[in-house]
Amino acid sequence: MKDRILVSELSDVLNGKNIVLYGFIDSIRKLGKLTFFYLRDGSGKIQVFFNSADLNEKEYKIVEHLRNENIINMEGILRKRPKNQVKNIFKGEYEIEGKALDILIRGEVPPFEIDKINEINESIRGRFRYIELRNEKVRKKIIFRSNITRYIREYFYSRNYNEIETPSLIKSTPEGARDFIVPSRNYKGKFYALPQSPQLMKQILMGSGFEKYFQIARCYRDEDLRADRQPEFSQLDVERAFIEESEIYSEIENMFAYTGEKMGFDINIPFPQLSYDEVMEKYASDKPDMRNPLVIEDHTVQFSVLPIDFVQKAIKEGKKIRGIKIPICLSGSQVKKIEAILKAEGAKGLISLSRLNNSYNFTLSKFADKSFYDGFDLQNNETILFQIGKKNESVLNFLRNYLGKEYDLLKGVFKFLWVVDFPLFEYDEDEKKYKPAHHPFTMPVNPEQLFNKTGNYKDIPSRAYDLILNGSELGSGSIRINKIDTQKRVFEILGLSEDIQRERFGFFLDAMKYGFPPHGGIALGIARMAAILYGCDSIHDFIVFPKTTSGSCPLTNSPSVIEKDFLDELSISIKKDNSNEN
Ligand code: ASP
Repeated sequence: MKDRILVSELSDVLNGKNIVLYGFIDSIRKLGKLTFFYLRDGSGKIQVFFNSADLNEKEYKIVEHLRNENIINMEGILRKRPKNQVKNIFKGEYEIEGKALDILIRGEVPPFEIDKINEINESIRGRFRYIELRNEKVRKKIIFRSNITRYIREYFYSRNYNEIETPSLIKSTPEGARDFIVPSRNYKGKFYALPQSPQLMKQILMGSGFEKYFQIARCYRDEDLRADRQPEFSQLDVERAFIEESEIYSEIENMFAYTGEKMGFDINIPFPQLSYDEVMEKYASDKPDMRNPLVIEDHTVQFSVLPIDFVQKAIKEGKKIRGIKIPICLSGSQVKKIEAILKAEGAKGLISLSRLNNSYNFTLSKFADKSFYDGFDLQNNETILFQIGKKNESVLNFLRNYLGKEYDLLKGVFKFLWVVDFPLFEYDEDEKKYKPAHHPFTMPVNPEQLFNKTGNYKDIPSRAYDLILNGSELGSGSIRINKIDTQKRVFEILGLSEDIQRERFGFFLDAMKYGFPPHGGIALGIARMAAILYGCDSIHDFIVFPKTTSGSCPLTNSPSVIEKDFLDELSISIKKDNSNEN
């Protein structure tokens, strides 16, 4: 056989020539003496037809018995299709007049048709994901992700970064989630942990003198799963020595601009920056969707004149009355519908004020007069929807997102945002202890504040930042602590005794003792980045074999029971009561 040609390589130069193709058979149709099918290879698909009048008996038998998804090689003549046919069922510019064909593998009939996957339920698709991946549209997303990582790598290589792999079997150093652990055979009763991220490794590498590090790193976090989370994932992990926040921002912005240019979409840089306080105030979220023009405004002052008990009581309790204005005069039934949706999200109710010409419609109109309405700067055909509550009410965030989508207000394709000026710690009122707002290796703006004697570390600003794209957090980073006293003080505030610090982070503190340059970095989730840039809601589609929301792998059926002999070798016995029959 002659050299293989890929579908993507077909061009006018080959028109009328005999060529060899390999691939899968797709959508066989018979029309009199003609057998049509698509030949699908890794690069695309092309229409093929065989005319039984041209075939000898043996060839005829082969073509007659072809089935969808047979794997073949074939020879045929490339034909340019007449312009008026290009728009038929098959939209291709060329087709192949088949001359010879061999079936390499017949294979079993797949459990569903490759182009009818939408009719198949999730669990079957998960189990037979390898069949689903034969669908071009499904495979396209995986290839899209592959291209993104290619251009990310190209960018960082062009900027003289070193791609450095760090180990996956490490010591348990939790970063906020639970670790996955791996028992050791050689060291009975001891365990490795899978990294939640290469955070400590990349910092140690800075201490070794690698100034520009990146890696597409596998990370593992044993968290309660949510729809858009996976227990294992890849992130673009970056770290640099002798760097300030602004240089990290521009490095990442340039990387996105480069990737966007290569992939054919516009990404405007630099990305805007807003402080954590500002986003919480204006959007009630630390990851606001900036395609949404709606903002939250505080109207507590205007409401303070209303002689209504629950309003006055709320204001006395320090609650705020905040509202979102939309450029639509909502009808009573529209407001009712929104109220019902908000109640399911935990809202007590909904107050609305709308204006049509000079008449106002207000939920509490009995208590309001003209001067009250005048206080709102409400134009004709506008409505404000109010919520009473604490400052960062999650209902307001929900309402803003809901209104933006429901009333088609989103503008722009890719809206990035840096959220900056985060606090260093969050205080857990239930557990009565401080927790890192990001992770414990984040540098405070002013490290001296850690040593104040007040015992209050709630408002210490940090040098952490998050990158948001269209309302999703792509990832976060920070300038890191590089002085041992500061690091130990942070551990202390987090409640880690000297012994626990040694036990968990001794190796890291030892490395820091010998000197870490000032450094900082960031990590961005690859599947999420791919999904949003592709315009898709689910990260699942960008993972070849994703786990279910309960963390099981439908392909391999893991997690699964381990044979007793193997467990014995590891000196592990399973407690009966805790064994999970599933
Ligand atoms: N290690 C952090 C994470 O994985 C990111 C960073 O600070 O670089 O979330």
